[in-house]
Amino acid sequence: MYIAELARALCFEVPMRPVPLLALRLPQLERIAWREGKRAAQRLERSAARAFLKGARQSLRSGDLLAHDADSDVFVAAALAAPRNADGCERMPTALDCRSALSRIAAGMSIATGLSIETGWTLVRKIERESDLATEVATALERGLREQERYEFFATVGHELRTPLTSIRGYLETLLDGGVDRSTARRFLQTARREALRLGRLVDTMFEFSLLDLSSAPLDATVPDLSRTAAAACEIVSQTASARGITVLNRTQSVSLGGLDEDACLQALVNLLDNAIKYGRDNGTVQIGMERDGPFVRIAVEDDGPGIAAVDRDKIFGLRVRGAGTERPGTGIGLAIVRMIAERAGGEISVVESSLGGAKFELLLPVRAESATAAS
Ligand code: ADP
Repeated sequence: MYIAELARALCFEVPMRPVPLLALRLPQLERIAWREGKRAAQRLERSAARAFLKGARQSLRSGDLLAHDADSDVFVAAALAAPRNADGCERMPTALDCRSALSRIAAGMSIATGLSIETGWTLVRKIERESDLATEVATALERGLREQERYEFFATVGHELRTPLTSIRGYLETLLDGGVDRSTARRFLQTARREALRLGRLVDTMFEFSLLDLSSAPLDATVPDLSRTAAAACEIVSQTASARGITVLNRTQSVSLGGLDEDACLQALVNLLDNAIKYGRDNGTVQIGMERDGPFVRIAVEDDGPGIAAVDRDKIFGLRVRGAGTERPGTGIGLAIVRMIAERAGGEISVVESSLGGAKFELLLPVRAESATAAS
């Protein structure tokens, strides 16, 4: 059926009970239509539609409704028929039911088309107009992306935690076996301690990341002032900077930021400054500055390191992504956190070349409404 027909059916069903809505999208279809022509995209869309029908018939129940519009990259299923318990009683579909049906249907569509499939589900509790369905589909897909991101994050952290643990265990076992002279034993203990500290930092990042994702609105009402938060961030990184003889210049001014709390703002600035120091030259300079850009402020964190190759500039904000040829240790998580903070605040993050010779990260954040009016 068409998506509008499904919306009409849901307007009738949802007032009686909430209905799980499963959404699948082929994000590459639009680019294929543009690059290889509409026909190529339509061929893939038809294969996807056949695989969608086949997968949905195998994974869903006969009373469930399936919808897709021609020339659209979205496929939707409404799980109207309730699954049954072992004793034959009807029950509400669970998150697990939805996720496993989605992954089976998506696997079939991906095999049939060779394309990647975005998936997600949501429980529709209210739908008054046909157009409300588009919002529900967007919610489902957005939620699916977040789930996927979280899954990847914990898989990465699990993997990252194992490395320091293995090395700590190795050093301790060698020491317990005995036969190691005093100075070597001390070196082993120092290395084990360093690894334990790194483990602690990874765990901290893990909590920050999961908390950041809990809500789309800032929890704390503390309004960050840019120059105050930048000064606090410079203080936090000062030890690391001075260990490498790096001068950190704070050229920000007082402006109240909107859309995020002070902790999130501090976290974003520390991550950017940490990187600038990590990738900057020994005895070099790192600078944090700002300029007003309409209702936004553009915060720039610059360094004199190797900079970022043009091909990497969009990718490095992805979770677990590290630049090609990066030799310094890291997890590829810091910039993903900055991007999440920026997007939640209604801003964005990007990187260009710095006049200092290295990278210039530009964090665009909204200025708080009252101070925006006061300034203009
Ligand atoms: P990590 O530094 O732990 O790898 P990030 O998410 O903070 O993770 O950064 C992702 C990648 O971006 C890094 O691996 C590095 O290649 C690149 N990068 C980040 N900041 C800089 C910088 N200031 N100069 C050069 N490369 C950088």
